[in-house]
Amino acid sequence: MTTSLSEPTALRYEPLRGLALWGEEEKAAALEVLESRSLFRYYGPALQRRVETFEERFAALHQAPHAVGVSSGTAALTCALIGMGIPEGGEVIVPSATFIGCVNAVVAARGVPVFADIDESLTLDPTAWEELVTERTFAVMPVHLNNAAADLDPILAVAARHGLRVLEDAAQACGVGYRGRPVGAIGDAGAFSFQLEKNITAGEGGAVVTRDADVHDRVVRYQDQGGQFTTSRGGDRGGTAGEAFLGANLRMTEIAGAVLSVQLERLTPMLRRLRDTARTVRAELADLDLAWRRLPDEEGSGGDLTLLLENRMAARRFVTALTAAGIPAGTLYQGRLVHQNPAVRAGRTAWGTAWEAPGRLRASEAILGRSVTVGLGATMTDDDVAHLVSGLRAAAAGGATGE
Ligand SMILES: *Cc1c(COP(=O)(O)O)cnc(C)c1O
Repeated sequence: MTTSLSEPTALRYEPLRGLALWGEEEKAAALEVLESRSLFRYYGPALQRRVETFEERFAALHQAPHAVGVSSGTAALTCALIGMGIPEGGEVIVPSATFIGCVNAVVAARGVPVFADIDESLTLDPTAWEELVTERTFAVMPVHLNNAAADLDPILAVAARHGLRVLEDAAQACGVGYRGRPVGAIGDAGAFSFQLEKNITAGEGGAVVTRDADVHDRVVRYQDQGGQFTTSRGGDRGGTAGEAFLGANLRMTEIAGAVLSVQLERLTPMLRRLRDTARTVRAELADLDLAWRRLPDEEGSGGDLTLLLENRMAARRFVTALTAAGIPAGTLYQGRLVHQNPAVRAGRTAWGTAWEAPGRLRASEAILGRSVTVGLGATMTDDDVAHLVSGLRAAAAGGATGE
């Protein structure tokens, strides 16, 4: 996960997901592409169409008509905003606790990020962001942080009231559900990442999922030089919505597509197991007075164990105790909101200053700063889980006696 876990000093297990399950099938899938010498997604000496196959499977998993494979999660967010037709200077409301890729994607799409409070779910406060809406607001970007859904229903209601687009950042939540539906396919579009630490991985990669044919059409074009080539290839990917425009090259490679189809097979059982592990741990510790992060939909979650301690100091002590016991743990984003990053605060883009320093969000700073997240690994054994339970118990006892 992208949770800035502490230094791995002899960890009991790897806090990894799809990469922990990496096996012969991934190697075989990559090798087939190498042997075909058809490394490019839509032509080559013996075209394998591995990206296309992955897109079909990924769309089906999300019960959505469209998925587009791209080069990264950040590229997916950029493509989705452009697919939705963001105007220059359009404001996008993002939660203050997230990865900097969200901000970079808004900038790449010529938009302006606006930072909103989180609540004790560690995701966008579902209604507080409404007061940030201006006539320039184009979209809201809820982030499904650390394998748990943001509370989408009230977010969708506020967005509908103001005619705003909803772009779900599902980079950390591939396969996670919200009220019985897969996240990423509930808003107008969803973005996924297949970077090394994510639920399924090809080292790098991303995808956009959408139910909107026009958004899909524009995403396909933008990630492939504006659709200049796909349209000339027979029209099956170039689409029909309006005239061609200029774009970028954010395409996925065939090796990534091949590997991701294998990883996708591992996703659902892996998440079920991690969710069960998280439940077991919480149940075993039910006698302690621990405050777990609020999960808007625990049933759909993909295994999250995040505590909210009394304050920053308590969180730091807790992390130290867990790490010493070989348990991967850390405060999310080291307790820093995304706009506390110096470049983000200064609005310093590659082409100059794009916004004034945003105001502080003290409540969000406090919540994030007292978070302690435990990294769960896809290959944890029963012994590892038992060790985790006793490690958490010991850390909690240490905190209570003020050690
Ligand atoms: C990882 C991540 C991204 C960006 O994904 P990349 O593939 O690294 O570009 C975006 N948003 C969130 C919340 C992420 O965790």
